[in-house]
Amino acid sequence: MLDVLRNIVLEVNTAESLDEILGIIVSRVRAAMGTEVCSVYIRGRGESRYVFRATEGLNSAQVGKASLALGEGLVGLVAQREEPVNLEDAALHPNFQFFPDIGEEPFYAFLGVPIIHQRDVLGVLVVQQAERRRFDDSDEAFLVTMSAQLAGVIAHARVTGEVKDASSPPSDMVWTRISGVPGAPGIGIGRAVVISPAADLYAVPRQLSDDRRGELRAFKHALSQVRTDIESVAENLRDKLSPEDLALFDVYLGILDDSTIGGEVAALIKGGQWAQGALAQVMIEHIRHFEAMEHTYLRERAVDVKDLGERVLGYLQADERENREFPHDTILVAEELTASMLGEIPRNRLAGLVSVRGSGNSHVAILARAMGIPTVMGAVDLPYTRLSNLSLVVDGYNGNVHLNPTPAIVSRFREIADQDRSLNKDLEGLRGLPCVTLDDRRLALWVNTGLMADVARSLERGAEGVGLYRTEVPFLMRERFPSEEEQRQIYREQLEAFAPHPVTMRTLDVGGDKALPYFPIEEANPFLGWRGIRVTLDHPEILLAQVRAMLKASEGLNNLRIMLPMVSNIPELDEALALVHRSHREIAEEGIDVPLPPIGVMVEVPSAVYQARALARRVDFLSVGSNDLTQYLLAVDRNNARVSDLYHAFHPAVLEALDQVAQAGRAEDVLVSICGELAGNPMGAVLLLAMGYDVLSMNATSLPRVKHVLRSITAKDAQQVLEDVRLLDSGQEIQAHMNEFMRSRELQQMVPAPVDPYS
Ligand code: PEP
Ligand code: MG
Repeated sequence: MLDVLRNIVLEVNTAESLDEILGIIVSRVRAAMGTEVCSVYIRGRGESRYVFRATEGLNSAQVGKASLALGEGLVGLVAQREEPVNLEDAALHPNFQFFPDIGEEPFYAFLGVPIIHQRDVLGVLVVQQAERRRFDDSDEAFLVTMSAQLAGVIAHARVTGEVKDASSPPSDMVWTRISGVPGAPGIGIGRAVVISPAADLYAVPRQLSDDRRGELRAFKHALSQVRTDIESVAENLRDKLSPEDLALFDVYLGILDDSTIGGEVAALIKGGQWAQGALAQVMIEHIRHFEAMEHTYLRERAVDVKDLGERVLGYLQADERENREFPHDTILVAEELTASMLGEIPRNRLAGLVSVRGSGNSHVAILARAMGIPTVMGAVDLPYTRLSNLSLVVDGYNGNVHLNPTPAIVSRFREIADQDRSLNKDLEGLRGLPCVTLDDRRLALWVNTGLMADVARSLERGAEGVGLYRTEVPFLMRERFPSEEEQRQIYREQLEAFAPHPVTMRTLDVGGDKALPYFPIEEANPFLGWRGIRVTLDHPEILLAQVRAMLKASEGLNNLRIMLPMVSNIPELDEALALVHRSHREIAEEGIDVPLPPIGVMVEVPSAVYQARALARRVDFLSVGSNDLTQYLLAVDRNNARVSDLYHAFHPAVLEALDQVAQAGRAEDVLVSICGELAGNPMGAVLLLAMGYDVLSMNATSLPRVKHVLRSITAKDAQQVLEDVRLLDSGQEIQAHMNEFMRSRELQQMVPAPVDPYS
């Protein structure tokens, strides 16, 4: 049964439209269960009725005509109860509703299961049989499993159902709004440029090309490069393999011949598809064909076909990268945006970012906020492979992407963007002013950096220091570990740019959602695995070289601070401190004389909150990484859009932990700062002021708004509001209370969340 399920899911996954998907489901499920009827009822987006959308066994002329409301008929009953209904004789049930032309009369047995996606009943899957009998438990279990597996695909296709087939030009798509989660605030208006991950056939964007000859040439060139590669592998193995084994290479090469796959791809290119799309379409079709074969040996050949396809695609992509030009209003779209993708495009050409995966606290979203690029993350229903060159609006406030918006929609969003710009302009006057409350409480506002581009933005916005320099960012942009000298130069630039202000350099924090391309870490639970200090303690050579580079870079400037990430116990901190001291001794032996900088520890896992005093006794400062602390306290993956509603920075448990850390720091007389995103939330900043944080370190974009808010209130106000929210039991209530506080002080404009005009 598992095989049957797998094959149906595979087939459905490569279908091009909702109708095709439903057609596959009804015919395959009917065959697999040996029933006489299988039908699907689907509720359209924004509609309330369940429409008879596909059938095998009933009157297909009624498809699209018959429909039922929630609770109406047996189908409506399944939808309402959100569980299967299994009946021996459907017509005897009080809910049974007779549709004259649908052709149900001969069928007695009825089994309907709901199709549920993210708590939403999208439709009902029904099988029927002439025999008077109850479907047995295994039938019911099969249909429930099928429905659960297909719900995501159906939801996705329902959203994008307007696209009839892959080769139709994207401009045929009617205006569609796809929801994701807010990544970075702001409105981006522009054209989609889809970046696909290297050599992934399933992620290739569909697009047409005017240059058929050029595309054909590129394809032939890529083919010949793959041929050469394979021939040279065969040549190298000539002495080691038997003639029969060597003959396999010829078979392999034969797959790409003009008479087989090569010819099919060329035909699609001549029909107007671009080479990568044509290749992907043909290869996926063949892979599917092999995967569905009964014979194990043949089924396993799917892997060879896939490998060949990926090799050819790799060459086509390399060719494209060399010749690629980005429009001035590029909206970069990817299945999974990465920091290095951001680096591929000049900042002044980037109008927005959209990622199908990830969430608001993914690292790429944090970088986007620092760079001020409107971003939507977790747009899981986005048909991203079909968007090349499509007009888009990225609403980074509400987390929505508008595909092919009408001129009226574009102009409404332009107004919002203009208001945004003028507010930022008004705040420019704050640049040289200190962050001091109306009753004279002084707070240091620092910035988080990583890219060189952050430096200018930070200084423009009046940053008084760097509370977090993410050293992993320059590591992510490379193809190998940077040498000690390369690191020294990179760090020197940062330290010089901000001198005499302090710059807090965090030691390498990789793992989790930050994988170095040249140092892959494969783990089932990356956020609970080998991350941050755990990696660098296991590789002291990396930590020692990095700290030496930092110390050398600070020569003569003396504005360096060093910070250790992801510490979860005291021995880790002691070990790391010993390595920092050792680096310091080593550079002194080289004759470089720099004072030992202040050393701090990040509080970003719950154990560090409980041990904050013991940590504080060993260091010069504590800095809360509230992004990770929130994910670990609430057990919510910061990178997973599906649970992003549960990631609540104002959760009472998070606020309690933040308060405890501040108290621990005060008790041990060390400076307490915070460098998670909460610091850049104007409402979060009010609460942090009340808790007694000394330094708030945030993305440069947020700094002027936070400064304006803190300069507009008294520390006493903040204290009162903190006391009030302490009495509340949920993040939602606290959020609402804080919104009200902002409104009462006429500061709501500083909270970047305009209402979606099209919700
Ligand atoms: C944090 O976890 O809050 C933090 C600042 O570190 P990062 O976001 O880089 O994990
Ligand atoms: Mg962190």
